[in-house]
Formats: sequence, structure tokens, C-alpha cells
Amino acid sequence: MFKNQTPGQLSLFAAFTSAASISAVVIGLSLFGLLAVSIKGILLLFGMVLVIDYYANYYFVRHYLYRKIKLIYKVIHRHKMSGEFNSGKVEMSRQILSDVEREVDEWAEKNAKEYEEMEKLATYRRRFIGDVSHELKTPIFNIQGFIYTLLDGAMEDPEVRTQYLNRAAKNVDRLQAIVEDLETINKLESGQMALDLREFDIFELASEVFSDLEMRAKDRNTRLIFKEGADKHFQVRADKESIHQVLVNLIHNSIKYSPEGGTTKVSFYDMESYVLVEVSDSGLGIAAEHLPHVFDRFYRIDKSRSRDAGGTGLGLSIVKHIIEAHKQTINVRSTPGQGSTFGFTLEKA
Ligand code: ADP
Repeated sequence: MFKNQTPGQLSLFAAFTSAASISAVVIGLSLFGLLAVSIKGILLLFGMVLVIDYYANYYFVRHYLYRKIKLIYKVIHRHKMSGEFNSGKVEMSRQILSDVEREVDEWAEKNAKEYEEMEKLATYRRRFIGDVSHELKTPIFNIQGFIYTLLDGAMEDPEVRTQYLNRAAKNVDRLQAIVEDLETINKLESGQMALDLREFDIFELASEVFSDLEMRAKDRNTRLIFKEGADKHFQVRADKESIHQVLVNLIHNSIKYSPEGGTTKVSFYDMESYVLVEVSDSGLGIAAEHLPHVFDRFYRIDKSRSRDAGGTGLGLSIVKHIIEAHKQTINVRSTPGQGSTFGFTLEKA
């Protein structure tokens, strides 16, 4: 009943109760002949108590409320009170308590969300630092081993020296690749990488990537081709440089994770306002339980294979970040032993 009353209504109700109680006592005393008061007197008494008590309640409620509410606002607004409370007044005709209750609820909800967000970020940061140090440890440990072994005398043997220096150099390259990929991820995640959206021909760009990766494909005897019937030219609107990186990462993976003599096919499909670009291989494939994780940072199905192929475990994570920065989607389907298809969309120009 009193849930949504204004402070003014509450003061009036309290005053009315007091006035009625006092009048009832006076009437009772009169009935027993202990007091001689006329009806007029009782009405006057009732009116006076009502008015005096109303103003007294009003004054105390106002001051009490003001102090309490000011305290609440100080806490929830971090000293920035709303204008009403700054002026030192409480608007008594408003349902001030339900307003404050609502604001405190909103504040609590916002705080809970902020806290949850901070928890997530803290967990992410902890995992990220753990992953990075774990990834850097292996090449550093290897380089350390080769250098100390050389210093301990192995460098006297020219053959061993060349071999160890080559291995150390390979590990330095790995370190560099990890740091460069981490830098890219960091730029993408912090939103520092501004997209330079331009129109370009996606078929032309894929042809360029085929040329860039020609040597790697030749090394593994892999054919890089466009799928017949899905080899049309499409003008898309995207950041050319980052889409170049997406295609390099996907096509490079298709070469790395396929047995020698495989085929990588790139195809383009018209989806009204989008173009679907697919990179398919005839490689190892990915088991269903790994599929949801392949875009995760440092996720590798076969760690040693990835490392031997110079992988950082960040390639697909970068690809996903880039596609999402374009507000587009990427997905993968795969059959172990038959091959995988990575497909992403791009906005048509
Ligand atoms: P990496 O540097 O290890 O290649 P990626 O992020 O590019 O890292 O890929 C993550 C993992 O997903 C790889 O280690 C590999 O196990 C798997 N993978 C990626 N592409 C393919 C593919 N085309 N066929 C099979 N497995 C793949």
C-alpha cells in the first residue's frame, strides 16, 4: 500500500493517524466524563494536530531523506549528484524512494556487468601472457642450447657449427614470426588497425597470392587453381592489404596441411550483396572436435607439424579478426582424410 507513496503523502498519512489517535483518546476521556471537550474542540484539536504533525513529519522526512539519499547518490554517482540533490532539496511530491530504488538497481546491474567484463578481461590477459610466454620459451630454449653447445667446443667442428647456426637461425625466424603475428593481433584487437576500404577485384588479388606462394606450392608439389565455374571476377569493397593476408594465411595452410601433390582450389560465389570466397584443399582435414577451436589463438591440432611448417598458431586467429573487423563472417567445414574448406564473405562493391 505504501510502496509508491510520495514523502508528502506519507507525512500526511502519519499526521492523520496521530490526529485521529489523539482525537479518539480525547473523545474516550470525554465519554467517561474525565474531560469536557465539545465536538468543535475535538475537531479543532484534530485539525491542529493534523497540520502541526504534517509539517513536523514533512520537515523530518525531508531532512532524513535528503541525508540518506545524498549518501546513496554519493556512492552510486561517485560524488556527482543529480541537480536536485545538489541543491539540498528533495522534491516531496515525487515518488522519490522508488526513483532511488530504481537508480540503485540500475547502478547495481551496471556494476555487475562491468565487474563481469573486467573478470573476463583479466582471465583473457592471464591466458594471453601464459600462451605467449609458453610459445616464446621453446625457440629461446633451442637458441640457448645451440649457442652454449657451440661455445662449449662444438664450434671447432665446422660441420656441426654450420648445422647448429642454421638451427639457431631457424628458431630466430620463428621468434620473429611469433612477434610479428602478435603485433598484428594486438593491432586488430585494440582497434588500431584502421581499415582502408577500397574497391578491388578479388579474383586478381587471389591470383597475386597464387604467385606469392608459388615457390612454397612447388616445394610440396601442390596445384593452386580456381574452381571451374566459380572463377568469376568480382569487385569487392574491403581493405586490400588485410584480405591479402587472409588469403595468404588460408592458402598457405592448405599447402602446409596437405600431403604432397595436393590441390588447393579457390572459388567465388555470388550471394547478392556479398561474395563468398572459399579456399578448399585435398589435405588432412580437421576432426569435428577441433573445428570449433581452429580460430583460437595458438590452437594447433598437431603441434609438431605446425612448428615444423613454421606455423605460429596465430594465422587463423588473425584471419578471423580481419574478417570480423570487416563485419563479415568466416566458417570452416572439413572431412578428416578428405580436406577442408574455409569460406568467408566480403561486401560486393
Ligand atoms: P599454424 O601457424 O599452426 O598454421 P593457424 O592458426 O593457421 O596456425 O592454424 C591453426 C591450426 O589449425 C593448425 O595448427 C592446424 O592444425 C589446423 N589447420 C589450419 N588450416 C588447416 C587446413 N587447411 N587443413 C588442416 N588443418 C588445418
